[in-house]
Amino acid sequence: MIELVGFDGDDTLWHSQGYFDDAQQVFESIVASYVDLADARLHERVLAVEKGNLALYGYGAKAMALSMIETAIEVTGARISAADLGRLVQLGKDVLQHPVELLPGIRDAVEAVATAHQVVLITKGDLFHQERKVAQSGLSHLFRRIEIVSEKDVPAYARVLREFGVAPQHFAMVGNSLRSDIEPVVRLGGWGVHVPYRSTWAHELETTLAPDEPRMRAVDAPDGIAAAVAALSATAAQGTVPDRPS
Ligand SMILES: [Mg+2]
Repeated sequence: MIELVGFDGDDTLWHSQGYFDDAQQVFESIVASYVDLADARLHERVLAVEKGNLALYGYGAKAMALSMIETAIEVTGARISAADLGRLVQLGKDVLQHPVELLPGIRDAVEAVATAHQVVLITKGDLFHQERKVAQSGLSHLFRRIEIVSEKDVPAYARVLREFGVAPQHFAMVGNSLRSDIEPVVRLGGWGVHVPYRSTWAHELETTLAPDEPRMRAVDAPDGIAAAVAALSATAAQGTVPDRPS
């Protein structure tokens, strides 16, 4: 059975990607006054710069702004003005200061899961920004623990679960990202509830999980989360899904 349920933060509890998408649009409009966007393959290039910088900057709005500045200097051959670089800095600040807006139905969903399981919040990204979003969400009292990690991969989940004193087969993670929320937990021998968000950063779409992965359920909206956790917990108790080799 499942004892502990983890919830992701960005685009699972509260809106996030939309603010990054809006910033990307403004970024493109600024760079468009210097170069032809299609010729410059701006979308691909900024994503490549962001991915290349992950190990240095981690995730979040500050990393986004620095990668936009780097990309803009590169694709304009250093012709971009200081005023426009200032606008890119401001894009990062705008994302950091957006109001925290919960997804519809998510408060009820967390409360429903919390009646039967211990719940924790496991989120990644900029530490200051995540701390502020957690504080403003009004949900922090529902969680037994709040973990802000720099990367959500197999070693990070293994460490967190060791600290919680919970074996992976008794843990389920709820989140919008197959790559960050579901795949590493399933690889460890845990369970996942995938709640897709309307927009996902291309980097978070990368996964090798099969769509019919037996340790995962997908739901369309937060009101399906509690039933999906209950179904996975029943499956876990029956022992009909073999443990994954670790
Ligand atoms: Mg997320």
